[in-house]
Amino acid sequence: MAVSVYIPTPFRKLTGNRQNVQADGASVAEVLADVDRQFPGFRALVFGQGDTVPAHINIYVNKQEITSLDGIDTQVRDGDEVAVIPAMAGGSGEDAAPPRKRIGALTPQQVDRYSRHIIMPQVGPSGQRKIMESSVLIIGAGGLGSPIAVYLALAGIGKIGIVDFDTVDISNLQRQILHQNDDIGKMKALSAKETIIAYNPDVEVVTHEAPITSDNAMEIIGRYDYVINGADNFAARYLVNDTCHFLQKPLIDGSILLFDGQVTVYLPGQGCYRCLYPSPPPPGMVPSCAEAGVLGALCGTVGTIQATEVLKLILGVGDSLHGRLLLYDALAMEFRQVRIRKDPNCVLCGEHPTVTGLIDYDAWCGGAFGHTNEEEQKAAEAAAKARDRAASAMNA
Ligand SMILES: [Zn+2]
Repeated sequence: MAVSVYIPTPFRKLTGNRQNVQADGASVAEVLADVDRQFPGFRALVFGQGDTVPAHINIYVNKQEITSLDGIDTQVRDGDEVAVIPAMAGGSGEDAAPPRKRIGALTPQQVDRYSRHIIMPQVGPSGQRKIMESSVLIIGAGGLGSPIAVYLALAGIGKIGIVDFDTVDISNLQRQILHQNDDIGKMKALSAKETIIAYNPDVEVVTHEAPITSDNAMEIIGRYDYVINGADNFAARYLVNDTCHFLQKPLIDGSILLFDGQVTVYLPGQGCYRCLYPSPPPPGMVPSCAEAGVLGALCGTVGTIQATEVLKLILGVGDSLHGRLLLYDALAMEFRQVRIRKDPNCVLCGEHPTVTGLIDYDAWCGGAFGHTNEEEQKAAEAAAKARDRAASAMNA
């Protein structure tokens, strides 16, 4: 029996910003259980630790509050609408959300600038305002960060954060479209800011010109609604993944090498990078772009897909790449996708997590390996397991 469940904004981070989800069940209790199956954590968000509907939550069936019906056992039929409404802003995590920019009516100039968005039924003036009220953190102002930042700036994202502590090198200019010849030697974050503002002065740009570490990641990532990963090393990739898990932030992940790209979306409570790759490869096993190279134009394809995914999440439209890993093979010019699942044994987001705080990621990804034969053996086994997992994910 298909019932439409209305998800209020504070809970929407669990459902990929979807306003309505379909669920099965003959009663409100069964429907909510089904929503929890589809979006783990939903029940805990609504009920807290208890079994009864807490006082600050009202549940409606076809706009009628269920305490006036049969409570949680109220029967539902095909086509009914169930709405779960927190009476006050009492949902967990809501208090920690960053203060949002409030955009009133668009100025005539903004209406002109964003007119090709506004005339789209999926965007409209309210969608454009959502874009302008959103904040996005981009990890890395390099190959992926460049097209991501440019398209998000053009779209009118309210606040864009740029994490990068590197300076522009001439070898970056083969692909990193945020930077130009005159920027060589400049901090990448600053060069990125100048480019973004030149494209769209409406955008607020915040630069974070230090490496992201276990000491600052929670504070930096906590200030944004969405995180896009364009990191060029495994330590940063795991650090960002873990921080997004702890802070319940949607993470749009992308990676590139040679002619290959990968993109996916991790939504809070629904799997993470560690579910797919439980441990990093031993140092040297997977070359970096600096070691092996990357086709410049490939960055544009993968980064633009990441920018598209975050805009869809903001607008609450379409099907996100959540649960799917998109694989791009530029040599064959083929896109394939594989299904990826939350791993119940994940050390971070699984049923019995052992990673309960940020760790020393540099040591874990680099220095921790290769000191003794036993450690080498363990690392090789972990890497083999990760490859098997990736291979089985690809066959899924
Ligand atoms: Zn996980």
